[in-house]
Amino acid sequence: MYKAKKHLGQNFLHDPNIIRKIVTVIAPQPSQPIIEIGPGLGALTQAILPLAKHLDVIELDEGVIPHLQQACAGLGELIIHHQDALTYDFSQHTDTATLRVIGNLPYNISSPLLFHLMQYTKHIKDMHFMLQKEVVERMAAKAGADAYGRLSVMLQYHCQIQYLFTVPPGAFRPAPKVDSAIVRLIPYQTLPVVANDYAVFAELVKQAFSQRRKTLRNCLKNFCQPEHFQQANIDPQLRAETLSVTDFVRLANFL
Ligand code: SAM
Repeated sequence: MYKAKKHLGQNFLHDPNIIRKIVTVIAPQPSQPIIEIGPGLGALTQAILPLAKHLDVIELDEGVIPHLQQACAGLGELIIHHQDALTYDFSQHTDTATLRVIGNLPYNISSPLLFHLMQYTKHIKDMHFMLQKEVVERMAAKAGADAYGRLSVMLQYHCQIQYLFTVPPGAFRPAPKVDSAIVRLIPYQTLPVVANDYAVFAELVKQAFSQRRKTLRNCLKNFCQPEHFQQANIDPQLRAETLSVTDFVRLANFL
């Protein structure tokens, strides 16, 4: 029995029905470049590899690697990158939008990892991840919903996001305290709305959600003048959670 390392977010999947369900929604094909983040002991890897034939995986924990190699022996070509996924260059596999990224992600680094991946969307066809249910709800939330916030806006700027299904704690060892969920992200290859200056847009969204209960006028007082709200046709008395991604981009483009 491998002793899970809590600081690496290790909760290993063991429920064969859930694993089968995840493989079905991913539907890996042999000719596709697929990369798995955090393969751990190989619960997903050994189910995906025989279908994909070739798989790249990124794993930070050296301790799991011999177990992973053993679990996947003879199932296909497995390339192990012993590295931190937060610094991994996802553009190295392909110049076109064909890369498929999958993983039962370490929950402790889920937001920075998602933001890191957003830099590579022009290389990525789709992503399927297991994350905390509450995080997936935030990723997929629409304007006006309680879960809608900075993560929703920043990810939905780049991707279409679908909440696929919920996974109970009992599917993992050790069992996490919360429900998990599977999410699909499909990067837009042509963005529906384009920020003229991405850094300005990102900072605007960050400031707007810095104090959720306050109006946009208050949160953005060091950022937007009354005429900016007027030009963008946005009521400064509103709260950030009522603005769509398009509204945020429009306002950012007047700054
Ligand atoms: N895929 C396995 C499964 O479903 O049973 C393990 C999932 S576990 C939730 C997350 C995995 O990510 C662990 O194997 C952990 O060692 C690895 N990990 C944690 N931080 C990482 C990082 N920064 N880069 C790459 N892998 C990481």
